[in-house]
Amino acid sequence: MFTYALLQERAAVMLRYHSDHDALSNCLNRRTFNEAVQQLAGDRSSARGCVFLLIDIDHFKAINDRHGHLAGDRIITLVAAELGRQLDADMPLFRYGGEEFAVLLADHAPDAAHAVAERLREAVAKADFQGVPVTISIGLAAWRRGEGSITAALDRADRALYDAKRAGRDRVVAHAPTS
Ligand code: GH3
Ligand code: MG
Ligand code: MG
Repeated sequence: MFTYALLQERAAVMLRYHSDHDALSNCLNRRTFNEAVQQLAGDRSSARGCVFLLIDIDHFKAINDRHGHLAGDRIITLVAAELGRQLDADMPLFRYGGEEFAVLLADHAPDAAHAVAERLREAVAKADFQGVPVTISIGLAAWRRGEGSITAALDRADRALYDAKRAGRDRVVAHAPTS
């Protein structure tokens, strides 16, 4: 009886893990990201703001083409692990899309967040991914409670990422609010 209860408890823990995490990268998944963003912006949150980092692997299509889709999968897993190594416990990492990740920095000042982003960029550029050179581009934007919607900040991070790509990749670009 005791053993059965224990097994049930373990199964519940595993179920919870798999519903929150992405199977390839072991990061938190996009659904969990959406929930975290809503929670952070909600009335019951004590957070005064946050900074979003949107991270995208550079020229990933070429990596797939050159090394094969399975090697590409492996690189997504390894990049996620490297990013995770560089982040503190209060800096959750999410798989945002195919070869895109997001970091949610609650109550971080933009300058401190910029330093985190630069640390991530440099770590990936220096790491050895089974001999495949990999770089990332990062878009950064801050949201402060009472100053525009959180989704507008996320949009700004996305535009900053686009600008980082256009500026040559392997870089961090921040977008401040326009008003
Ligand atoms: P950029 O520097 O502009 O980001 O160029 P890119 O080639 O990385 O960008 P693009 O969006 O054109 O290509 C992303 C590629 O990532 C296309 C898609 O096939 C690949 N991809 C998305 N998800 C996965 C995945 O789970 N595994 C693998 N191996 N490839 C994936
Ligand atoms: Mg992409
Ligand atoms: Mg890409």
